[in-house]
Amino acid sequence: MQTVALTTLGCKVNQFETETMEGLFKQRGYEIVPFGERADVYVINTCSVTSLGDRKSRQMIRRAKRQNESAIIAVTGCYAQVSPDEVKSIEGVRIVLGTKERTRIVDYVEQAAREDGLLDGVSDVMGAGEFEDIPLFGVPTRTRAFLKIEDGCQNFCSYCIIPYARGPVKSRQLPHIRREAEKLAAAGFKEIVLTGIHLGAYGKDLPGHVTLADACREVLSVPGFKRLRLGSLESIELSPDLFSLIREEERFCAHLHLPMQAGSDAVLKAMNRHYDTAEFGRLIQDVERELPGVAVSTDVIVGFPGETEELFRESLDFVERMNFSRMHVFPYSRRKGTPAAAMAGQVPEHVKKERVHRMQALADRKAEEFHRSFLGKKMRVLFETEQEGITDGLTDNYIRVYTGDAVKTEEIYAVFLEKLYKDGVWGRIFPMEHE
Ligand code: SF4
Repeated sequence: MQTVALTTLGCKVNQFETETMEGLFKQRGYEIVPFGERADVYVINTCSVTSLGDRKSRQMIRRAKRQNESAIIAVTGCYAQVSPDEVKSIEGVRIVLGTKERTRIVDYVEQAAREDGLLDGVSDVMGAGEFEDIPLFGVPTRTRAFLKIEDGCQNFCSYCIIPYARGPVKSRQLPHIRREAEKLAAAGFKEIVLTGIHLGAYGKDLPGHVTLADACREVLSVPGFKRLRLGSLESIELSPDLFSLIREEERFCAHLHLPMQAGSDAVLKAMNRHYDTAEFGRLIQDVERELPGVAVSTDVIVGFPGETEELFRESLDFVERMNFSRMHVFPYSRRKGTPAAAMAGQVPEHVKKERVHRMQALADRKAEEFHRSFLGKKMRVLFETEQEGITDGLTDNYIRVYTGDAVKTEEIYAVFLEKLYKDGVWGRIFPMEHE
């Protein structure tokens, strides 16, 4: 039996896409092996969102080549899409696919086994297109499943390469979303996470004013799973309809990831974000009032071109006033081909590093404040992993909870939150309240 090893760099969407490709290989009789092992075929699903993503992608390609000189190496994803020539020049690469055409990955591999030379399947993604609908065939664990319902973005934030790598918005049809949700529920998944590159834009390309709230309703009409979580969402896209659905539907997780990117109006404008800090702040207030206990996590980029020390301090002050439960802090990464790459006022690397450090310290303090506000409360936790007698999992509002009590992974328990512990909280189980 031919063996195939796949690896993913970057976001949840990539992770989902790797799982679907894995399913395609299994269906055609391939055995899936870990990426660290010798395999006949290697698939590297790359990322290009930062220069680190590019570098790691190249490292994984070289690693595959070292593990088996004669393997067929296929490179897909955002880095392959935006820099195909760089990828083709790496020794050992036999197939370059980009962000389209992945439904045909096995055909490409079989063609490469018959013919010499390099197969180039990268095609233009900038025109309108349809959602590449690859059904799930196999599912690795039964805790949390990612369900991709949208691809592409046409927001063109000035720093971001994604619109060039993925093209415009392409939404999955509602009946197909339902079909996949049914499959996941039947497989025993407790939690479904809806993902997309620009999730809030779901439906823009479909006839009949279909929205993200409609996609959520479709999934919620499927019985058998316990939690529905949304992936990253642009704040201005949190519609009243979606708001009330989150409030009324018990299975909706009280967690929203709303990327803010900067807490300074001048920087937000230069980033081509479509809101200012006042609007963002108002929305967070609405969220906190309407959805008590909700966790709002965010992303922040520091060291954007033109970000002076004064503007950075504005960002720090703004974050200080927000109750973010978790923050992902990134240094700005210059991406060739984006408007920000050509902007004046590029910030030196050592300054970016120092700002990441200051913003991260604030983020850690905010996360601790958020966790502290739940001590003494009882919450439901979906346990996921066990190591040396300690099991951990997540509440619906994304607090990581650890316990030394006897629990089963992939199950939900009621937990009393006792004290701060590591990046989350330590808890005790209510033994009679296990779902
Ligand atoms: S919304 Fe902005 S940051 Fe997000 S994928 Fe689109 S262009 Fe990139």
